[in-house]
Amino acid sequence: MNEANKYPSCLTTKEIENILKASGVQSTAQRLAVSRYVLCEASHCTVEEVKDWADQNFPKISLATVYNTLNILVEVGLLKALKLSHSDKVIYDNNVDNHYHFLDEQTGELSDISSDKIDFKTSLNESFKINSIDVLIKGTKSINKV
Ligand SMILES: [Zn+2]
Repeated sequence: MNEANKYPSCLTTKEIENILKASGVQSTAQRLAVSRYVLCEASHCTVEEVKDWADQNFPKISLATVYNTLNILVEVGLLKALKLSHSDKVIYDNNVDNHYHFLDEQTGELSDISSDKIDFKTSLNESFKINSIDVLIKGTKSINKV
């Protein structure tokens, strides 16, 4: 299996390299690996989780490198930096489509909820212009039902 087919919905290493270059950043092996991890493998991770992963793969990677790699990916729109009410940490989300979240309070796992699964009806007058709505639903998720 070649690398391009491993994560079919994800960017190739070459594409990530081009994005980093276009942002004026040297695309080191560490930055590329961190980018692929957060864009293709991890979901809803904190900078500490990314750093822990990086430490296992690249003993010399600095927290600053992890931070600025994540910030570049946020700036170019490949990653969203979320603040949700259950945690005071920033959560990096590789699903940049409009969506909501479900927090399993027993496991701490966050699941994406498609925005078409929840319907909002507001009675705000036209002086309120809504750009986005953040929703965090808390409960427990059964393994059997999706
Ligand atoms: Zn999400």
